[in-house]
Amino acid sequence: MSAHRNYINGAWVESAAAPIVDRNPSDIDDVVGSYAAADAAQTRRAIEAARAAFPAWSRSSIQERADLLDAVGSRILSRAQEIGRLLAREEGKTLKEAVGETMRAGHVFKFHAGQALRITGELVDSPRKGVSVTVQREPLGVIGIITPWNFPIAIPAWKIAPALAYANCVVFKPASLVPGCAHVVAELLADCGCPPGVFNLVVGSGREVGDAIVNAPEVDAISFTGSVETGRALAARAVAGMKKIQLEMGGKNPLIVLDDADLDNAVECAVQGAFYSTGQRCTATSRVIVTPGIYGRFRHALLARTTALVVGDALDEKTQIGPAVDAAQLKTDLDYIAVGQKEGARLVVGGERQPAPKNGFYIQPTVFEDVHNQMRIAREEIFGPVVSLLRAQDYEEALATANDTPFGLSGGICTTSLKHADHFRRNAQVGLAMINAPTAGVDYHVPFGGVKGSSYGSREQGAYAVEFYTRVKTVYTNANIAG
Ligand code: NAP
Repeated sequence: MSAHRNYINGAWVESAAAPIVDRNPSDIDDVVGSYAAADAAQTRRAIEAARAAFPAWSRSSIQERADLLDAVGSRILSRAQEIGRLLAREEGKTLKEAVGETMRAGHVFKFHAGQALRITGELVDSPRKGVSVTVQREPLGVIGIITPWNFPIAIPAWKIAPALAYANCVVFKPASLVPGCAHVVAELLADCGCPPGVFNLVVGSGREVGDAIVNAPEVDAISFTGSVETGRALAARAVAGMKKIQLEMGGKNPLIVLDDADLDNAVECAVQGAFYSTGQRCTATSRVIVTPGIYGRFRHALLARTTALVVGDALDEKTQIGPAVDAAQLKTDLDYIAVGQKEGARLVVGGERQPAPKNGFYIQPTVFEDVHNQMRIAREEIFGPVVSLLRAQDYEEALATANDTPFGLSGGICTTSLKHADHFRRNAQVGLAMINAPTAGVDYHVPFGGVKGSSYGSREQGAYAVEFYTRVKTVYTNANIAG
């Protein structure tokens, strides 16, 4: 077992606290590693180091920042198999998904390397003669980055890379369940020459390390991804401290299947969206809303596909669905299955803990039908491989049901009708609208985020990340002076 330390002010730092033991959810007897847990005092040192590093880093050249991010991206890509294996071991998504996520992180770093070279402003004429106005972008200062466990390398990458590209310093707290990938990112930034204090890693609990970041006056902005509950509580404190914030939270994502849909594609969208990554995606499909002319055929094919899915060890190449991330998430999944049955929904596939060869948190992919939209299983995020079938008489009723939710992250429609696809594109109350595509699965060069209770603040990813990680200054220059 290796002991990994935190990275503060360019040094690897020990901690007196009991370490976090990272276990493999496919086999809890397999210990991935042991990670030093930072406390509030170490977190403060990290914040102070970031603050001290900011003046020089904010004046660094765009070439220096682009080269750093490009080098980190290249190293991630060249080690994608090895890092992906670590990711699959600590989070439980399949090796194929984990390598894919790692490649995504590499591409994100490279994308933002390019963005560092493309920081623009505006030169605007003034109504006043001889006066010109420029609008220029500036970094914010110190960014606190707090991430969830379900994308252990991609989400940190899509926050850290733009933060650094736009000349901010970073204090990064990953989810306690997945310190391994966070540690790899820190190692790569250190190896590629990131100056001391510019990037700091503090592994530790949300309550101690997370709170210390959110409450620190020296932190200028918080980028958070995680649950609604944590996000809302954290936002109130961050705003009281006048920090800029960005929150990406939960979803209850609908997929509408209309009579005229391509059946095979609709089933594939539902299966991928609901069950891949064990349903542990904020964009996972959790409500499939189906019209009468296709319901019977769709239900039959969906049940056949679901029953055939191979659940097992994330590292086994035959596995399609890995385990739940930990005992608590497995319990949440099973509790919601019990709630659905109590509410009168009909369990048609799955619903039980999956017996498996190893000591892991396996659960059967689960389908409910006879679900109505006011049931808890249709309103609350489960974050497991559990999907509900709902009936709608026509497109209009399906859209109304899809939009009747406190969330608004992703939503999809399967149809060959251009009229309905176009209406859905305009009227779905979501940040990500998917037409004949799964609700989960997005690109890294375009904005990501939701509406209503799913997101708060400006969009993440792609060129739109500049909105969060910079502010604008308006400069007036008066040329009407003598001499
Ligand atoms: P979580 O429990 O809210 O934790 C998220 C992060 O917040 C973790 O690093 C956690 O630390 C930290 N935290 C906990 N309490 C804190 C506090 N008082 N102050 C500051 N930080 C604190 O969420 P999760 O279970 O890791 O992730 C699952 C959730 O993330 C789901 O709801 C999912 O929908 C959402 N998600 C959203 C998106 C999106 O982009 N919309 C993407 C992925 C996931 P610890 O790990 O130490 O508790």
